[in-house]
Amino acid sequence: MREFDVLVLGGGVGGMMSAIYAKRRGKNVAIVEEMMLGGVLWSIEKIENFPSYAEVSGATLAENFIKQIKHLGVVSISDEIVDVDFSAENKILVGKKESYTAKGVIIASGLSYNKLGSNEDDFLGRGVSYCAVCDANFYKDKDVAVASRKGSGIKGALDLVGVCKSVTILDSEDLSVYAKHTKNEKIKVISNVKDLKVTGKNLVEGVTFKVEGKEEKIKTSALFVELGKKPNTMLFKDLKLDENGYILTDEYMETSIKGVFAVGDIRAGKLKQLVCACSDGAIAGQNA
Ligand SMILES: Cc1cc2nc3c(=O)[nH]c(=O)nc-3n(C[C@H](O)[C@H](O)[C@H](O)COP(=O)(O)OP(=O)(O)OC[C@H]3O[C@@H](n4cnc5c(N)ncnc54)[C@H](O)[C@@H]3O)c2cc1C
Repeated sequence: MREFDVLVLGGGVGGMMSAIYAKRRGKNVAIVEEMMLGGVLWSIEKIENFPSYAEVSGATLAENFIKQIKHLGVVSISDEIVDVDFSAENKILVGKKESYTAKGVIIASGLSYNKLGSNEDDFLGRGVSYCAVCDANFYKDKDVAVASRKGSGIKGALDLVGVCKSVTILDSEDLSVYAKHTKNEKIKVISNVKDLKVTGKNLVEGVTFKVEGKEEKIKTSALFVELGKKPNTMLFKDLKLDENGYILTDEYMETSIKGVFAVGDIRAGKLKQLVCACSDGAIAGQNA
């Protein structure tokens, strides 16, 4: 088991800022990240509200942050945490590759996309996407569809429409109340869609669904699943959560378990923004 003073679960902005503050207090700090340090930053094209930049891409900020944590000597571990044990003074994070222990743990694992719950996983990266802004360009001049719930897909459809040939919004409810937001000759709306499924051999070729019990199908090169996000708290059932599943903390970012902190989008807080994740991280890193 690898031992540290402070372990940070998740390498987005909240996690990296936590690590910076903890490391500058002389702690032996590691960030465990399953994908890429930077988290959501990699999917943000343009940021206009991060201090000292009139405009900056998420990728540039991610690269700058990564340089900073490397410069400070923060250990970066590539692993997915699949279980935790916070019952003793030395907390344990169980990864797919190894286990890690520290007295202080900072949870910074952000939000995850709500799933459609049909066969979408079979086509992930092969036409099914959870990020219209990130992947629109792969479907330039193609017909695409957006899975939506109560209008959750409208923003994604508007991001796609400038690039794609046509965008069909498939909403599980009646979207007619939002008609003025979808008024665009390239956008088609189908309401009251149930049992949405992807079809295709290797790549997405179309979708099937039911409207008022009647089977329908359309051809599409991609299905963008735009059903909102939820906090990644599956592993943290022992912590006090708010009614929406976000982790409750005190003003030091400490959770209901001593020595366990939470920062960024996963924490119960009114505003989910980069500067908020930075502020949370600074406070947690100072106290963990
Ligand atoms: C499209 C988009 C645009 C945005 N634009 C802006 C903007 O312009 N300005 C602004 O201020 N904010 C913006 N935001 C919000 C901002 O990006 C977030 O508030 C912030 O990035 C959250 O950081 P975080 O560290 O909490 O989470 P994340 O960046 O989500 O980082 C969480 C990390 O944890 C990792 N992780 C999760 N589970 C595990 C596990 N079990 N094991 C290991 N690693 C794990 C994930 O891989 C991820 O890297 C935007 C968000 C989005 C989605």
